[in-house]
Amino acid sequence: LVSREHHVDRTAVTVAGVPIGPDTLTVIAGPCAVETPSQTLAAALMAKAAGASLLRGGAFKPRTSPYAYQGLGESGLRILADVKAETGLPLVTEVIDPAGVELVAPYADMLQIGTRNMHNFALLQEVGAAGMPVLLKRGFGATIEEWLMAAEYIAQRGNLDIVLCERGIRTFETATRNTLDISAVPVVQRLSHLPVIVDPSHSGGRRDLVLPLTRAALAAGADGVMIDVHPDPGTALCDGDQALTRPEIAEVADAVARLSPLM
Ligand code: PEP
Repeated sequence: LVSREHHVDRTAVTVAGVPIGPDTLTVIAGPCAVETPSQTLAAALMAKAAGASLLRGGAFKPRTSPYAYQGLGESGLRILADVKAETGLPLVTEVIDPAGVELVAPYADMLQIGTRNMHNFALLQEVGAAGMPVLLKRGFGATIEEWLMAAEYIAQRGNLDIVLCERGIRTFETATRNTLDISAVPVVQRLSHLPVIVDPSHSGGRRDLVLPLTRAALAAGADGVMIDVHPDPGTALCDGDQALTRPEIAEVADAVARLSPLM
């Protein structure tokens, strides 16, 4: 269903009126995690000022360590709803288990499946049945074939509004948190008609790499990027090392704008 064998032209997915796909560069930005109402609003305003058309932010955070910040859960969703109303930015937010889809879906414009859940087939089927756009992150240990098969699980339930997100894979390299598999962008675009975006924040795990990785992603043909921002990264409860400050996201936005006419 997601292969170009039967669907030759690349497709666009529309999220609350915002297109993601060929002929557009979509910027999704926001906090990695919802921490407080003021932090979430400040991050969303930073994203909006930089030209982002969709807001990201996690209320449910599936962390490697059970001792790390796990997100605010439902109260985080309510904060996101307020910030969405105030900024007018449609919301992309993560759902971490099948039972959570019913709770998260009314708040979200796009449901995010994180890297750790790419193989959670019951969750993929549930978001497939939810009938709303899905952002499917690549598992950090998944091949492209496995990633596309995960997309098939969603598509099989009648939902083809799927955007694929390359977010780095695990390699032997330790200088970066993950290794951005830049070749995945053109490879997937040849195999699948679905839009492909890149998350340069989780790929490198370092704010100094977000700009170069964004440039690389767009040069490789990505349909957009998803970027973490924080009003005060030093105090962030989740992934502060990769969160951009106001001037840094403005610089990335400028780079995206410069690359747009080259598409
Ligand atoms: C995220 O985008 O909030 C996130 C946790 O990303 P990933 O699943 O790619 O680690």
